Amino acid sequence: MEEQTLSIIKPDATKRSITGKINNIIEEAGLKIVAQKRIHLTREQAEKFYSVHAEKPFFKDLVNYMISGPIVVQVLQASNAVSLYRSVMGATNPEEAKSGTIRAEFAKSLEANSVHGSDSDENANIEISFFFKAEEIVG
Ligand code: ADP
Ligand code: MG
Repeated sequence: MEEQTLSIIKPDATKRSITGKINNIIEEAGLKIVAQKRIHLTREQAEKFYSVHAEKPFFKDLVNYMISGPIVVQVLQASNAVSLYRSVMGATNPEEAKSGTIRAEFAKSLEANSVHGSDSDENANIEISFFFKAEEIVG
């Protein structure tokens, strides 16, 4: 059974209309986009999605940034989707991201780093069901 992970193309990227460029890197890496929609998060949704970071000093700014424009939420599928997409995204801080990764290519800053990807199988399942119903995911 193939694995699935949740991806978000963040507001800095949708603003620059580079969803297609990012999707190209995702597909070239062997990740299949099996669900996708463009949405605008409410503050409540953004706070809930990032609740694991609620006590961090950057939380308020992160929430404001994530609701500053539309995002594209996606489900990506591959045999090792979670770890593969983490390596395709690159490090959280784009200054530390390896060349060729999405964040090295496109991120504006540590906060506005263009993409989100789940960090474990367990969180992938939680995050996918946060945005998608089973029938919206077509493998
Ligand atoms: P990742 O997205 O790589 O899993 P984290 O889960 O640690 O990274 O952080 C979630 C998001 O919060 C990051 O992608 C980034 O947008 C933002 N962020 C993380 N650390 C900082 C920081 N020190 N200052 C500002 N924003 C941050
Ligand atoms: Mg994370």
